[in-house]
Amino acid sequence: MAFELLMVTSEAWPLAKTGGLGDAVGGLAKALRSGGAGVTILMPAWRGTQDQLAGMHRVTELPGLPGGPAELYAGYCPALGCRVLLLRNDALYDRDSLYVTPEGDEYDDNAVRFAALSMAAAYVAQGLPGVTVPAVVHAHDWHAALASVYMHQFGVQDIKTILTLHNVAFQGVYPMMPAEQLGLYPEYLTADGLEYWGKLNFLKAGLLYSDCITVVSHNYAREILTPRFGCGLESVLAARIDKMVAIPNGIDTMLWNAGRDTYLHGKTFTADRLENKVACKTALQKAYGLDADRGAFLLAMGSRLTEQKMVDVALQALPQALDAMPKLQVCILGQGERRAERELVQLAQRYPGRCGVYIGYSEARAHRLHAGADALLHGSRFEPFGLTPLYAMRYGTIPIASRVGGMVDTIVDPGLVAETNRLYRATGILFDGEAAEDMRSAIERAVTLRQRPLVWRTMQRNAMLAPMGWEQSAPLYSQLYQSLRPDVAPIEAVGPRLQPREVRRNLQRRNGRGRAASSLDAVVPAGTSVA
Ligand code: ADP
Repeated sequence: MAFELLMVTSEAWPLAKTGGLGDAVGGLAKALRSGGAGVTILMPAWRGTQDQLAGMHRVTELPGLPGGPAELYAGYCPALGCRVLLLRNDALYDRDSLYVTPEGDEYDDNAVRFAALSMAAAYVAQGLPGVTVPAVVHAHDWHAALASVYMHQFGVQDIKTILTLHNVAFQGVYPMMPAEQLGLYPEYLTADGLEYWGKLNFLKAGLLYSDCITVVSHNYAREILTPRFGCGLESVLAARIDKMVAIPNGIDTMLWNAGRDTYLHGKTFTADRLENKVACKTALQKAYGLDADRGAFLLAMGSRLTEQKMVDVALQALPQALDAMPKLQVCILGQGERRAERELVQLAQRYPGRCGVYIGYSEARAHRLHAGADALLHGSRFEPFGLTPLYAMRYGTIPIASRVGGMVDTIVDPGLVAETNRLYRATGILFDGEAAEDMRSAIERAVTLRQRPLVWRTMQRNAMLAPMGWEQSAPLYSQLYQSLRPDVAPIEAVGPRLQPREVRRNLQRRNGRGRAASSLDAVVPAGTSVA
């Protein structure tokens, strides 16, 4: 029997994306497909999603879902090379944006919208005419977390479930509602299931019912066991530690590739030939209305404009830095909290020619931002993995990032007082703290480092060449799937196929960096094939 995987998600680039979740799920699906695996993505039929699929056809109706009857459509995504099942209920999913109203408020029926997605996954696992039954259901984030709960209710036992935590801060917390509104038996709405402090908590229930929990970086896996990063779920996570494994995300190195990026209009470059990066910088300065000054230090910010991303701190630190450093320029791409958007626009007005802001979401602009900037400012109060700094690094743009989450694993910063020979290993700058002063002095440090051309140039090269593709991580997922279902022929992925012992060693090395192994190092639950 060939391995069949069902990935349940709200986002998968290029079908739908609002942040790193979409990139991670799309990237993993593509990497697994490259090995010939039977991968199917199940996601809502968001507005326009079906237009990106080939061979769309209606499979069946699902009458008993929360929010009313829905239809299941199937198609093929050429960009990802995998099958896609779309859950169609236009009243629930055919809206301007995925999660929030134009005013930025969460849709008030989000609980029902994502309960329906999870229940649809359970129907697929149970068996539907015309749909292949998966060996493993891999749910991503709170949107899909209830899949394992519905599967439990349906009595589906042989199909294993994985829940990947892309961000523990988003849990799907809603006021308690009658169980029948979610299509659940009342016993699932107790403290042993969805109930948490009198409310519904989708993520918590997924943690309790999934066979395995994966976390998108080793450092974040450790952090979420603490109150600061566990966001109230640290004790639930601690209780499930024997089911947890950290598998870092990868990035799509074909897409984020300075040497082939079509968004750069021919001005491509490589780690050894950076001439065209200067042309990209000039183009970026022009696009953001900045002075055409090659010698300026061009600092970019590109992210959701939220408290998580420390936009409040940036709003204080950037004017201080602009005042202190006359050669500093800033360009910002982002959207998010309305107040932050307004204040950033005002900041640009205060520093004409030195600060430019684009409020909005644009994939093309993100590529050009990373290509043209000297450095990327990426403050974060928490950062499960941190794709954006890696994208910047691929273009020789040095990340200046908070020392949290996955960025601790992916950015090499030998420290403030490192000797020169150690600096030659660096790929970026990490800073502690959440005060404007912390961020401003990190920017100053970058500006000072760039005055040492050999060090800066080496950092750029290191950053561009750092291994970060899915070929590191997709094989670890394949091994995990296999270990959960040793009765099914293995799923292949890009990258080398590791032997079980190598997987364990690999995970121990990454998890612990030399510390004694804990249960976090256990790649898979007991009774599986990884020795
Ligand atoms: P998070 O998932 O917390 O938002 P990540 O850095 O892991 O953070 O991933 C963010 C993803 O969203 C990246 O692909 C980044 O380029 C993209 N992104 C965020 N804001 C924008 C924007 N305004 N325009 C284009 N891409 C954006």
